[in-house]
Amino acid sequence: MEQIASLNTRLVRALPRAIVGAYALLFSRTRAPVLTNANSNQALTALTSRPPHADDALLRARAMEIRSSERTALLDALVDGVLLVDAHGETRFANAAAVAMLGQRAAIAGTRDAIDALPLQVKRAVAAVVATRSSERRRIECDLKGDSALPVVVVVSRMQSESAASSCEELASVVIRDIRAEREADRMKSDFVAQANHELRTPLTSLRATAELFADGEIVSAEECAQFGQIILEHADRLANIIDNMLDIRRIESGMARAALEEVDFSQLVESCVAEQSAEALRRNTSLTVARSVRTATAQADPTLIRQVVLNLISNALKYTPQGGVVTLEVDTDNLARAIVVSVRDNGPGIPEQSLPRLFGKFYRVESLQKVAKGTGLGLNLCRNVVEAMHGGQIGVDSEVGSGSRFWFAIPMSQAGQQAA
Ligand code: ADP
Repeated sequence: MEQIASLNTRLVRALPRAIVGAYALLFSRTRAPVLTNANSNQALTALTSRPPHADDALLRARAMEIRSSERTALLDALVDGVLLVDAHGETRFANAAAVAMLGQRAAIAGTRDAIDALPLQVKRAVAAVVATRSSERRRIECDLKGDSALPVVVVVSRMQSESAASSCEELASVVIRDIRAEREADRMKSDFVAQANHELRTPLTSLRATAELFADGEIVSAEECAQFGQIILEHADRLANIIDNMLDIRRIESGMARAALEEVDFSQLVESCVAEQSAEALRRNTSLTVARSVRTATAQADPTLIRQVVLNLISNALKYTPQGGVVTLEVDTDNLARAIVVSVRDNGPGIPEQSLPRLFGKFYRVESLQKVAKGTGLGLNLCRNVVEAMHGGQIGVDSEVGSGSRFWFAIPMSQAGQQAA
């Protein structure tokens, strides 16, 4: 029993050094920061080193035990699975994440349960690395469950442990990383590219067709020139809008955009947005007013970006609400949530319930409303990015078909605004 405990202690002490190499390989291929052997060894030493105790052997043994349990705890804290197997594929050590991925039996030392739960390529890699004398390391991308349910990257390394040196035993460490999130991000990226391609192509095709009419001399009268010239202008504007919105969203999502925060008076900002849109409201014979506004509603925010959000919501309310409609804005404070809440309410067509979960996604347009007004389906996504990603706020909608919609967003209140409200 004591021998097993001592072997376990030696293995766990050696294991971090073995997995550091595996991490360098995992990270270098997944574009995460590269962890070098030198700096991670330093980190591990710093994490586990303690000031020297008395020479007493018992005390030293106790200190070793603590170090070993700290290292086990460190390995258990990793989100990646870490396994240590011998030349027969029998488990020497499995951290908590490995057990979660491979099943409870993977934890049983001295059995092949863990290695048998891994795909054939990994078993072959383990056999190959323990058979070599060099510090071989292999990286394998595979599906843990064999049906794309759990895609993983596995790094198998020959382990150079003190125990292996003393008993000439060859071991392999197996580090398993769940890459479902990366795969999902890749899928979303290709969906976005495919959709963007489609959205850009539609106005381009119309532009080309109209330009062809001019080139073929089919448009002769001044009246036709004005009419088809207008069509070209509209499609060109739509293209520019899509490209601008896509670039803005991309900048925010990639973390490149920074909010220029300052103390913003939301009541004033909303009033000025309403004034800016009043001519458009008049043209549409729609009433546009601020129905309620708290006296002082200030928060740290980027006024240009928040203005863009308010204008977007007003513009949507105006364009989807039929002539003679009513659009009202409210600026309120939610003292419980410590936020300023701006809402834009209209008595337009409302949004079908099944569309609500997708409304803030990219390029989503409610099918039944596509003929009501032109759009790109990117405006609300941009609003969500500005509110949630750049201001730590929340955006949402309450809507009922036939009655209208209320779009709202909440921005965390600054200390000053909270006190004044
Ligand atoms: P768009 O450029 O198409 O208006 P948005 O991202 O701003 O794109 O809005 C996405 C979709 O949400 C719109 O196409 C429309 O179907 C729906 N929508 C947005 N605002 C309203 C509103 N006030 N009333 C009804 N539908 C709306």
